[in-house]
Amino acid sequence: MEQITHFINGKFESGSQVNWIDNIEPATGKVYSIIANAQEEIVNKAVIAAEFAFDNWSNASRSFRSACLNKLANLVEQNLPQFAAAETKDNGKPLHVATAVDIPRAISNLRFFASAILHQSTEAHEDDQLAINFTLRQPIGVVACISPWNLPLYLFTWKVAPALAVGNTVVAKPSEITPYTAFLLSKLINDAGFPAGVFNIVHGTGVDCGEALVNHPKVKAITFTGGTKTGSRIASIAAPQFKKLSLELGGKNPTLVFDDCDFDATVSEVARSSFSNQGQICLCGSRILIQRNIYNRFRDALIEKVKKIKVGQPFNPDVQMGALVSATQLEKVKAFVQQALQDGGMLLTGGNQIYLSEEFEHGYYFEPTVFEGLNNQSAINQEEVFGPVITLQVFDNVDEAIAIANDSNYGLAASVWTQNITTANRVAEKLKTGIVWINCWMLRDLRTPFGGMKNSGVGREGGWEAIRFFTEAKNVCIKK
Ligand code: NAD
Repeated sequence: MEQITHFINGKFESGSQVNWIDNIEPATGKVYSIIANAQEEIVNKAVIAAEFAFDNWSNASRSFRSACLNKLANLVEQNLPQFAAAETKDNGKPLHVATAVDIPRAISNLRFFASAILHQSTEAHEDDQLAINFTLRQPIGVVACISPWNLPLYLFTWKVAPALAVGNTVVAKPSEITPYTAFLLSKLINDAGFPAGVFNIVHGTGVDCGEALVNHPKVKAITFTGGTKTGSRIASIAAPQFKKLSLELGGKNPTLVFDDCDFDATVSEVARSSFSNQGQICLCGSRILIQRNIYNRFRDALIEKVKKIKVGQPFNPDVQMGALVSATQLEKVKAFVQQALQDGGMLLTGGNQIYLSEEFEHGYYFEPTVFEGLNNQSAINQEEVFGPVITLQVFDNVDEAIAIANDSNYGLAASVWTQNITTANRVAEKLKTGIVWINCWMLRDLRTPFGGMKNSGVGREGGWEAIRFFTEAKNVCIKK
């Protein structure tokens, strides 16, 4: 059985007393590799290596740091089919999605920050008579990057690329549920030219490896993407130690469909925004709010579309939805469906586990599922399912749509579907979410601020926001 081991100071190792965790392929439900679960000893070794490497790396030229990131991007690109197949095996997402979205985006993340660091500038504040102030943005030190399982390499590189570009050294931890593409990446780090100790990767559970990393006194900043409860736990450890913290957390995203929307295009995009990646994207719409006078027509068209979504084993090029990531996730989705039924929800389509045949019979497949008749206070409309389950609700006017959309503890993303620019602008201004898409979904420009309000997170990543997060601003004042 293949062993997934840590990458520390330029070398692979598993630690002295290894506690291995099973790595399961969601498409089959079978163990296919084992993961070394880092305890304090290994995490400490990685942090010490990163601390030792910091001086040289932070003083290295920007062009050198940029070249290492670009070389890594090129190496991933040369091995794109291998990375995509590995992501699909580890996560259960369709291979065509990993090939067209996940791995290309990981490459873009590396290239984007390799370029950004060459174009970075800082502010100067000139006073007429007395002084001129300028700002230095300096690397922080050892940074911990902790990422989730839904977009494994995509989100892993979204964090490590800016952290490294500005001159920090990194100890990164991918999800223990999908560690494989980070492990593949670690095999390319030396060839990309990163000096030993600059970019370390440790594996293991959140409780063991993750907490040891967050708690380590030499870790000065933490970037975390994952669940809201985990974010709260990490904040409770990091805050008393005054660590810099960026939290990208869960969502319960509203999709607002107005009666003047481009009907057919909206039906298609709402289906896509609800069920892409099996509904396991923090940005997926899960509360679909539809204006009353088109409610029935829109519902019927959407259901027709959803019924045509093909669910199957993820290496089949025809499937649109693959397997959910784990048995735990499957059980969570089933429990939410049961709860919604108990709460009086009307099941319009889906609701059942799917059993495939032969080698895939134990995989974690679930039908795309749509409910109506549940008010916004029901559990399924307030809690994050993070699976292929959506609800439909009706509204009468713009104010009511905004009120329902904002009636949530989350505030990550929203999409608005209307041909009326006044409605679009008004809704965009009033929604309490970090991202508002108008007549589109998941159109991402890496220069934009990315993050959520309320329980969806603290801080912003992306573009200069990431450069700001991963540096300390220092004001230098020179008397004239
Ligand atoms: P999770 O919180 O269970 O785990 C995320 C990562 O944190 C994993 O690497 C895990 O091992 C680690 N971890 C867990 N407990 C830890 C602890 N106590 N200390 C340190 N590290 C710990 O989340 P998940 O189930 O992997 O991912 C799904 C969640 O991520 C969803 O809530 C989803 O909305 C959210 N998410 C948010 C965004 C965003 O950008 N806002 C993007 C993707 C996913």
